[in-house]
Amino acid sequence: MKTIFLVFLHLIMFAFTRGQNAQNIHQKALLVDTHNDFISSSIEEHLNFNEDLKGRAHSDLQRMFQGGVDVQIFSVYCDDTYGKGSAFSFANQEIDSLYVIVSRSAGKMEIVTTPNEILKAVKEKKLAAMLGVEGGHMIEDDISNLDSLYKRGVRYMTLTWNNSTSWATSAKDESNHAFIASPYGLTDFGKKIVKRMNDLGMIVDISHVGEKTFWDVLSVADKPVIASHSSAYSICPVFRNLKDDQIKAIAKNKGVIQINFYSGFIDSTYELKQKKFFNAHKKERDSLVAAEHTSFFILQYLTKKYPEESKSLRPPLSLLIDHIDYIVKLVGPDYVGLGSDFDGTESTPLELDGVQDFPHITQALLERGYSKKNIEKILGGNFMRVFKANTR
Ligand SMILES: [Zn+2]
Repeated sequence: MKTIFLVFLHLIMFAFTRGQNAQNIHQKALLVDTHNDFISSSIEEHLNFNEDLKGRAHSDLQRMFQGGVDVQIFSVYCDDTYGKGSAFSFANQEIDSLYVIVSRSAGKMEIVTTPNEILKAVKEKKLAAMLGVEGGHMIEDDISNLDSLYKRGVRYMTLTWNNSTSWATSAKDESNHAFIASPYGLTDFGKKIVKRMNDLGMIVDISHVGEKTFWDVLSVADKPVIASHSSAYSICPVFRNLKDDQIKAIAKNKGVIQINFYSGFIDSTYELKQKKFFNAHKKERDSLVAAEHTSFFILQYLTKKYPEESKSLRPPLSLLIDHIDYIVKLVGPDYVGLGSDFDGTESTPLELDGVQDFPHITQALLERGYSKKNIEKILGGNFMRVFKANTR
């Protein structure tokens, strides 16, 4: 009996030390998340970042600190219903929103635009906030708009969202030939845009772009690129994830793939499970569609209304770690990071309810045998290398 007790005590002590160790590593590491959609949801749902938004949003300021987030890149986003004459001004409104959020943070946040500014803000224990534009349609085919976004602090642009631009085809369109019969990839004007971004010091983001666009980008980019929120296609074959040859090409380019936490990009069985969930609530869903709510609103609504059912659809955290591990095994530990897509998705893996849960990733990586050095690279070191290489 005594021996069993001692073994038990040892196990508890071991788990405790490991937990302490994970916390220690997590707190000391620079944590960068390259994709969070809070700006859009705060505008749509009138959310205040200073309030406790648990249960209403994935993020709020207090939970950012709780989760050990040092750098948050906020996504500037509008969908394809915005175009010429409206998309650029809407992007600027979203940028205004982040400036307002920061101005109301009582000095706890700062907008940063260089690696040195990040280090300074982190030293002052502030949340370093950065801007990334999600969708090239927001420059409305005008390079001077790109320059203007850079001046306002934008440091990455996702070349396309799900919609193609006149100069780049998206992954959604390229994978569905009903939309575009012959994908054009990056046009000459698109190549000019990529070159201008490289000259300005605005990181080129290839998340959401089609494969043809992807290869065209890598043939012209002279700086490392990022995938701000994409996961591994081999584990979850959906159009938004990256195939092995793409992952290898990003590693060769010295770029970084920031893993997206969305259940549908992590778990290949999620789509089917979600379909069953929708069928179970078909009447309600149909009436929401008839009332012309957006598909994202409907997703969020049903997810929140049926918390137990939607919880059963969520993959385990270990599956997200599998994506990180897959990329590390394929190309090494220098080309992977985190791009949560928090507040831009209706479902994330279990144990990742919001920004407060980033430490669970560190814990899980440690349990997989990852060294402190490699965990630090994944949490933010790899992105910092790419950001430095892009900064003039
Ligand atoms: Zn996205």
